[in-house]
Amino acid sequence: MAYSEEVLRRARARLEASRQEKQETYEAHLQQAYARYPRLQEIDRELRGTVAQVVAAAFRKGEDPTAAITAVKERNLALQREREWILDASELDPDFLDNTPICETCGGTGYVGANMCECLQELCRSEQKKEISSLIGTGRERFSAFRLDYYSDRYDPNIGASPRQLMERGLQICKAYAFGFTQQSPSLLFSGSTGLGKTFLSGCIARTVADRGFSVVYDTVIQMLSDYESDKFGESTEESRRNLARYTSCDLLIIDDLGTEMVTQFSVSALYNVLNTRLIKGLPTIVSTNLDSEGIRGRYTPQIASRLLGSFELIPFFGEDIRLRGK
Ligand SMILES: [Zn+2]
Repeated sequence: MAYSEEVLRRARARLEASRQEKQETYEAHLQQAYARYPRLQEIDRELRGTVAQVVAAAFRKGEDPTAAITAVKERNLALQREREWILDASELDPDFLDNTPICETCGGTGYVGANMCECLQELCRSEQKKEISSLIGTGRERFSAFRLDYYSDRYDPNIGASPRQLMERGLQICKAYAFGFTQQSPSLLFSGSTGLGKTFLSGCIARTVADRGFSVVYDTVIQMLSDYESDKFGESTEESRRNLARYTSCDLLIIDDLGTEMVTQFSVSALYNVLNTRLIKGLPTIVSTNLDSEGIRGRYTPQIASRLLGSFELIPFFGEDIRLRGK
């Protein structure tokens, strides 16, 4: 199977990240073990003194190195035995100082000769599945391009701050969210009027999280519901069927423009199904909407409203339409 360069890059990055993580864990464990059993550190230090050094010393003194080499070898074996004794007698787990490579087959390089190792293939397959289905936008969604100066710095007594201060906070939250994203991250609700940067910021999050190797699906609520409708009426395409599985299983689902769709019994139940399934699985979702909490309660069933208002962290958006200011 040929993978795109991008998929391969992400798969390799994940392999490298696991390798690094394992190495870091090992080093941290080693330091803990040293702190607890200082003799271990002395032994390791002595073991690192190489045979070559001893041999060189023997030569400098004009002696035959053979005896010195034998002595060093014996000394090393004795040290290794002592090391094992200390560890066996210690309270440390047997694999606490495990330093084997993450993959025995390829040593963690991802390749055996010219062939891709099964471990990297597996990562490529998983990355392939994660390709973002329909990340919309202009491709300019970078946190660094977010214009805080579009938001007024005038104090607004209604919110107890200026819109700019509020958005500065929102921007920080979104950045921290994207760069620290895990499958255990909370769900977010972006609420505020049109043109306040909700779509832009969710696009930033989508790109950052996807770049970090997570599966992200970004869709408008209308597109998502239309995939469910096609499925219901037997008009599904291969793409819409693939999307259906992704909505409930991707690491991060971003639903844009909630509130712009037509509310029908079907749309409400499909929406509830997506939100609830992801909450049960513990997978995070970001929903952006023009509705405030009153609007959400008025438009949706109590079940949907309680999910959105109870289980999502609210990020409020305030200010004037920045798209007008940008022109
Ligand atoms: Zn491997």
